[in-house]
Amino acid sequence: MYLADYHTHSRISPDAGSSMTAMAQSAIAAGLQELCFTDHVEPLEWGSLQLRASYDWAAMREEYRTACAAVGDRIRLRLGIELGDAHKAFAHTERLLSGAPELDFIIGSVHMLSERFGSRDLYFFDPESEAEAKAGIADYLKQVQELAEWGRFSVLGHLTLPLRYLNENRGFHLTFDGFEGEVENILRTLIRKGCGIELNTNRGNTPLPDEKWLRMYRSLGGEIITLGTDAHSPDYVGCAIERGQRLLRTCGFTRFCTFEKQQPVWHDLH
Ligand SMILES: [Zn+2]
Repeated sequence: MYLADYHTHSRISPDAGSSMTAMAQSAIAAGLQELCFTDHVEPLEWGSLQLRASYDWAAMREEYRTACAAVGDRIRLRLGIELGDAHKAFAHTERLLSGAPELDFIIGSVHMLSERFGSRDLYFFDPESEAEAKAGIADYLKQVQELAEWGRFSVLGHLTLPLRYLNENRGFHLTFDGFEGEVENILRTLIRKGCGIELNTNRGNTPLPDEKWLRMYRSLGGEIITLGTDAHSPDYVGCAIERGQRLLRTCGFTRFCTFEKQQPVWHDLH
């Protein structure tokens, strides 16, 4: 079984604290063959609606270079980013990316609701009722559709992200049932654009997305898919990746992807 974690955050992200070297050492200890760093890059300043003037690519490149030197050939490392909320400023995002080092992989993701919901980060979305929660999900999916139509990324990150916060932090028991049409449009758009999705193992909690939507993606002809933990610390690196591979098999996938220079590299599922 080829084990690769394609969604991890080091201290280059504002919400994580470990070095890339520590994350890589943890990946080796967990028996992974490959690890991709996907630190947060957004067109907006973290926690604000201000456009980010520039991104410190040099710091990322240096952190990555140090990790590569530390682990040698004990694991294959790749440099990616989680490009969050590009839909808030597509042109500005493209300008920021023009200064980036050569990236192997880009996760496109939506974390912020629209202006209608105060552009709040989903993490802080605290609806009073199920109806309000569902209105938030509808709003989120509209923005994911916009992001998919832009399509300048490798895979869409954690398709069902609102469920992580609503169910795990806010005590709801929600699914994306009722949003089949919206999700299908998003998946069809991604496939048309040559983008994939990820199975975010959500550090061992309910995968994002879960079986129903993985099956839908596959039945629409979708095949490009990566597996990632969303680890923000070394202890979660590799968490539930094997279980995720088994789930993909169950859903009709025969292979999954890693990426090199933004091109998919295929691996059979066993
Ligand atoms: Zn994310």
